[in-house]
Amino acid sequence: MPHDPVTRHTFDEVMVPNYAPARIIPVKGRGSRVWDQEHREYVDLAGGIAVTSLGHAHPGLVGVLHEQAEKLWHVSNVLTNEPALRLARTLCNKTFAERVFFANSGAEANEAAFKLARRYGWQHHGPEKNEIISFTDSFHGRTLFTVAVGGQPKYLEGFEPAPDGIHHATYNDLASVEALISERTCAVVVEPIRGEGGVVPADPEFLKGLRQLCDQHQALLVFDEVQSGVGRTGSLYAYQHYGVTPDILTSAKGLGGGFPIGAMLTTAAIAATFGIGTHGSTYGGNALACAVAQRVLEVVSQPEVLAGVEARSQLLREGLTRLGKQYGLFEEVRGLGLLLGCVLNEQWQGRAKDLVAAGLEAGVLILVAGAGVVRLAPSLIIPETDIEEALSRLDTAFAALTSH
Ligand code: PLP
Repeated sequence: MPHDPVTRHTFDEVMVPNYAPARIIPVKGRGSRVWDQEHREYVDLAGGIAVTSLGHAHPGLVGVLHEQAEKLWHVSNVLTNEPALRLARTLCNKTFAERVFFANSGAEANEAAFKLARRYGWQHHGPEKNEIISFTDSFHGRTLFTVAVGGQPKYLEGFEPAPDGIHHATYNDLASVEALISERTCAVVVEPIRGEGGVVPADPEFLKGLRQLCDQHQALLVFDEVQSGVGRTGSLYAYQHYGVTPDILTSAKGLGGGFPIGAMLTTAAIAATFGIGTHGSTYGGNALACAVAQRVLEVVSQPEVLAGVEARSQLLREGLTRLGKQYGLFEEVRGLGLLLGCVLNEQWQGRAKDLVAAGLEAGVLILVAGAGVVRLAPSLIIPETDIEEALSRLDTAFAALTSH
């Protein structure tokens, strides 16, 4: 059946206006290159916001998706399915986890984590143990509970009343957590690298301190690894890089390599709180999603892929640092592995969007992380030649931008 033509203008006619997508519409992707409707080609350093961990149309993922599509798509959780069981077992084998709950997105994985933490507190210590400590500028998703736990009030504005009992401490400031934590705290929730909030890695001592505080106060430590997980830092999960083990970990984004999936990982003892009927999801554990994620994990956890993340990170960092100096743009380039943030200097403060627009003009997809940081989260296996090409196009972009 022929399709009616659609353009960027169609977005304004038929979509709820909560997004402001770029003027181009990508129609094809291969590896770290993307083509738009006009056949213009871009190097993708955005990765669908840290999602396409193996690039576009990875042959292994396409193969497994086709294979599973011929077998079984969906049965709901009235039945279990082989891909879900295999994926859960793989996640348990490769992490601290002993039990897994599947969802469809990062927000849903976090929603499950926060509900589990509350219910665990309620069950083991009583109804008073319901407070959650999170951090200002953190991001955990867009459901009402996750925006309430997230530390960006603008995402909650007009949606109140929010769930109660949530306190925000200051990231990388242990004393601010000490001031808030008590016997009423059921969980401390933290991103090991604050992604949306500016690409800020946690200090190792901060995460170690959180672990100790949680143990002292019988609170659960929840790591939101929706953005930092699945090889992004060069370790399968960032907690392994830091050597601090949480009680609950959430994963999504890169886990499906572009197929929607979320997962909450925990221990058997904590998982027991989610007894039959306490929580659920129609699509969670969907066979197609789990088959794809299984292949993503198999590829990403190969030692040469994880080691390759660091090599690519170095290349990008060096190039970005050089360009930042040349054009007087960045104060620093920070982050871990292939989650990098170029922090704009005082002169360019608040203009991250302008750099993204200039990148698009020059044929490179990049992201913002707030108004003052340009973020990069490319495929973990982006060819080094694509990195070089992207840097050369960014050179053109920044030259054009700074010449005005
Ligand atoms: N948690 C973190 C750390 C994230 O970066 C995001 C998305 O950016 C989310 C949760 C929400 O994930 P999703 O958009 O899949 O619901």
